Amino acid sequence: MSGRLEGKVAIITGGANGMGALAAHRFAAEGASVVVADFDAEAAEAVATAVTDEGFAATSVAVDVSDETQVETMVGHAVETYGGLHVLYNNAGISPGDDDRPENTSVETWDRTFAVNVRGVFLCCKYGIGAMRDSGGGSIVNVASFVAHMGAATPQIAYTSSKGAVLAMTREIAAIHAREGIRANALCPGPVLTPLLAKFLSDDAKRQRRLVHIPMGRFGEAAEMVNGALFLASDESSYMTGQSLLIDGGITSTYTTPE
Ligand code: NAD
Repeated sequence: MSGRLEGKVAIITGGANGMGALAAHRFAAEGASVVVADFDAEAAEAVATAVTDEGFAATSVAVDVSDETQVETMVGHAVETYGGLHVLYNNAGISPGDDDRPENTSVETWDRTFAVNVRGVFLCCKYGIGAMRDSGGGSIVNVASFVAHMGAATPQIAYTSSKGAVLAMTREIAAIHAREGIRANALCPGPVLTPLLAKFLSDDAKRQRRLVHIPMGRFGEAAEMVNGALFLASDESSYMTGQSLLIDGGITSTYTTPE
């Protein structure tokens, strides 16, 4: 039986940890040749090695997605290693612990968050789209968040704003490239207790405050988000572009939650 990503080359940014690492295993098991691209070179290499040990295709590349030259090199690495690019999973993101309400958030934190979460996605698209076009088309999966859709009183103004920008960018890229066989969709996860969220919801009170608003009464699992990413990356979503796929335990559809 052929995999859902058979014959495709996929770059996964932020592939060294959390949801990106899980996606690297899953995408490769579904037939993709995976480039694990991450700031954390050692962990990225460990993920790529683990994937190849499972008998699938993966390499790693060290990249800071906010750095134009490094992103260009990353795309070149995918094309040189595997002959093209079909899936660009822009998953790398940061959520600084000192991101708060506007009055308490430093300009440095704002700029750093936007450099990774927004400029990073822009740069990966800037250099990835040409490679996708040369490969006959492809699918861009930009990771935004449920916070791009609704405000939260547990504030993280820079992060929330950056994810809103990712959503807007995704729609525009979808519109521009729709006739070239290049699709772009946003994946909007609800809260998943990866290292990123654990850092932000650092104590039990903060976690409980978030849990109260989730109709399902639990955090999401990384695998539940990767299932969505896989659908968006694959041809199963071939008539879908410019959309936001919310996988959030019901948060954004509800006003009150069950007792
Ligand atoms: P994570 O912190 O576990 O992993 C993120 C990865 O990105 C890390 O490997 C990190 O090294 C890498 N990274 C950070 N900055 C980078 C840079 N400049 N260049 C390259 N790589 C960089 O995070 P996660 O929870 O798996 O999050 C993945 C994505 O999902 C992020 O975009 C995040 O904003 C988004 N998201 C997460 C949640 C959640 O609850 N965890 C919810 C909604 C959206």
